[in-house]
Amino acid sequence: MNGILRNALDTGNIAGAYIIEGAAPEAAWREADEFVSALFCAAGTGCGSCPGCKKYFARNHADVMVIDGEGKSIKVDAVRDIPSFVYRKSYEGGYKAVIVAGAQDMTEQAQNALLKVLEEPPARTVFLLLAQNAKSLLPTILSRCIILDAHSNVPDAEGRIAEEFSVSTAAARVMLRAAGGDYYKARIYAENGYTEMRNDMILALGRLFYAKNMAVSVTEKLILKYEESLALAIDVALIYIKDVLGYKHTQNEGAIVNIDRIEEIKKHAMLRDRTLVGTADLLAGFTVRSCQCPGANKKLMLTGTLFDILEVTI
Ligand SMILES: [Zn+2]
Repeated sequence: MNGILRNALDTGNIAGAYIIEGAAPEAAWREADEFVSALFCAAGTGCGSCPGCKKYFARNHADVMVIDGEGKSIKVDAVRDIPSFVYRKSYEGGYKAVIVAGAQDMTEQAQNALLKVLEEPPARTVFLLLAQNAKSLLPTILSRCIILDAHSNVPDAEGRIAEEFSVSTAAARVMLRAAGGDYYKARIYAENGYTEMRNDMILALGRLFYAKNMAVSVTEKLILKYEESLALAIDVALIYIKDVLGYKHTQNEGAIVNIDRIEEIKKHAMLRDRTLVGTADLLAGFTVRSCQCPGANKKLMLTGTLFDILEVTI
């Protein structure tokens, strides 16, 4: 658990509202679960087996209210019941907790409705706003909350990932570096088979960089192996190109993510910037466009992108 939350529980000095910020929603949820279960736990630890914990984890604790946008916008209607929940007495005689997951998706109107409650903080009630990016919330909300990082404080992240996903510690280290040290993001990479995905992306990029025979069809096949997680695969390719560009300009091996592929990185660092930057721009553009038009034919868009890349590499 985040040190600030742990300390709040230990001292009983619990603030009225926290924002738990984390790129991966499950990271913020894990913090919230650890904290809120401990709050209702008979042992004060979030043991998982006492009545308070059981009710909480079954998501039917009468003193917990959860609002979850699940990726969609949270409109004012969704927060309308907060006042009647927070200003009544607690069922179990202890704290009450309101969790807003995907808080960054609250409309301005919803945020203003929530703000009214935060301005008149109800007794023994804690708000947890789980947000991918706290900055997308209104400054007036931010000023009333303690902002925490969901991904901080994961001891021995490397060992945990290695064990959980049966990969070597070297491979786990690469995934953590790719995730900028974020344990939960590294887990997403691990779940999606980062090493194989990365190796395929390097193979695909090599084909494109040198405009090899059948470059587009071979590359397409390699990338479409990851059709279900296309954005992630492209992201992995971009991390590799960043490695190449970084090495090309600084010769600093210490900053490389994919350190186990240093030989290819050195080789690709001989390519022109136009090739490397152009490829990265076009791949990033593909991700943006495919997010903006979810109904579009992604395969067709990908083919177009690959042909565009050949234009900058030849
Ligand atoms: Zn318990």
